[in-house]
Amino acid sequence: MAESNSDVRTKDIFSKAYDFTKADEIKDRGLYPYFKPLQATDGTTVQIDEREVIMAGSNNYLGLTNDPRVIEAAREVLKSYGTGCTGSRYLNGTLDLHLELEEKLADFMRKDSCVLFSTGYQTNEGAIQTIAGRRDVIFSDKDNHACIVTGTLVSNAKTMRYQHNNMEQLEKLLNRADEKAGKIIVSDGVFSMSGTIAKVPKLVELKKKFDTRLYLDDAHAIGVVGEGGRGSASTHGLMDEVDLISGTFSKSFASLGGFLVGDEEVIEFIRHNSPAHIFSASMPPANVATVLKALEILQDETWRLERLEEISDYMRNSLKDMGFNVWSSQTPIIPVVIGEMMECFEFWKGLFEAGVYVNAVVPPGVPEGQSLVRTSYMATHTEDHLNRILEAFRKVGIEQGIIDQNGHSLLG
Ligand code: PMP
Repeated sequence: MAESNSDVRTKDIFSKAYDFTKADEIKDRGLYPYFKPLQATDGTTVQIDEREVIMAGSNNYLGLTNDPRVIEAAREVLKSYGTGCTGSRYLNGTLDLHLELEEKLADFMRKDSCVLFSTGYQTNEGAIQTIAGRRDVIFSDKDNHACIVTGTLVSNAKTMRYQHNNMEQLEKLLNRADEKAGKIIVSDGVFSMSGTIAKVPKLVELKKKFDTRLYLDDAHAIGVVGEGGRGSASTHGLMDEVDLISGTFSKSFASLGGFLVGDEEVIEFIRHNSPAHIFSASMPPANVATVLKALEILQDETWRLERLEEISDYMRNSLKDMGFNVWSSQTPIIPVVIGEMMECFEFWKGLFEAGVYVNAVVPPGVPEGQSLVRTSYMATHTEDHLNRILEAFRKVGIEQGIIDQNGHSLLG
C-alpha cells in the first residue's frame, strides 16, 4: 500500500546545521578563535576584547590600510562619486575611476589589458568559469585557493588535480589528457597557507611543451614578491610567459576587489561573458581610489617591499631557530605547524593572551594532523613588534611543550 504523504518523514535540510556541534565544544573550552571582532586598529596593533594586541595575521603586507594618504584618497572620491555604484560594470556601474585603475594595472603588470572584479574570489571564480568550458581540461594544484576550485567546478571543464607543486605528476596528467582539448594550468602564485612560491619556471616549461595556457593567482604575490612587487612570475623574469595573472585588492592594496590581466582579446571576452563580472555590482568608488593610491605608493616607496622581505626572513629564521616548524614558507606568510586541532587552538589562545593575534588554521583548510597558526607580516611592523611576537612564541611554545629552551621541536 502506498504511504500517504503525511507518513513520509523527509530529512530536514537544516539537520546538518542542528547537528553541528564541533564549534560548541571549542567554545565551551574557551578556545574558539574565529569571528573575533576587532574594535579598532592602526594596522599593526588591534583592539580585541578591550585589549591591545599585535596583529601578526593580516594580509595588509605593505601596511597601507591605515596610511593617511590612502584614507584621504578614499575620502576625496566619496564627495564626487558617493558611496556605491549600485550596478554592474556592464550597465550603470562603470566609473572613469574603474577605467583609470584598469589601465594603470595593465601598465604595472606589463600586460595588454585588465578587467576588475568586485572581489578577488569573484575574479578567479568568474574568469576560470568563463575561459574553460565543457570540452576543455583544467590542471589545478591541489592546494589552490577555494575560489579556483569553485571556478573549476562551475566551468564544467574536466579538472585534473595534481599534488601540491608536484611537477612530475602534472607532467603525467598533461601527457594523459586529450591532445585536442583546450588546456590551462592554474596555480596560486604564492600559496596562501604555506607561503610557498609556485614553481613558475617549470610551469612555463610544461606549458610550452604541451601547448597549454598558464594562469597564476597572485593574490599573495603582487605587492609582495617579484620585481617592484609584480608577483610570482616576475621573481623569475617570466611575466611574458604567463597568459593570465590575477590579483586581489584585499591584501597589499589595502582595499577590496580583484583584477585579471592578459591579452586584450581574452580580457575582453571575460569582461563580456563572466557572470561574476556582469551580474554583480562594481567596486565602490572609495575602494577604487584606495587601490589607485596604494599602487602609487607601492611604486614610489620601494623600501616597503625591501623591508617586507627583510622582516619575513628575520621572522622565518627566528621561529625556525626556536625549534618551530615553519613548513616551506618563502614569503611573509609564515605558518607554524602545531599538529592536532585542539592543541593548535590552545596555542592560539596562549599567543592571544600573550598579546599576539595570529590565525588558527585547521582541517579542511590544511591536512589532518597539520593544524597550524598562520602568521603574516607587514612592512610597517617595528622591531619592537617583531621581538614581542617572537617572545610570545617562545614563552607559549615552551609552556605548551612544543619547543624546548634550546631551540628543539618537542613535537613527534
Ligand atoms: N586567491 C587567494 C590565493 C587567496 O588567498 C584569496 C583570499 N585570501 C583569494 C584569492 C580571494 O581574495 P579576496 O579575499 O580578495 O576575495
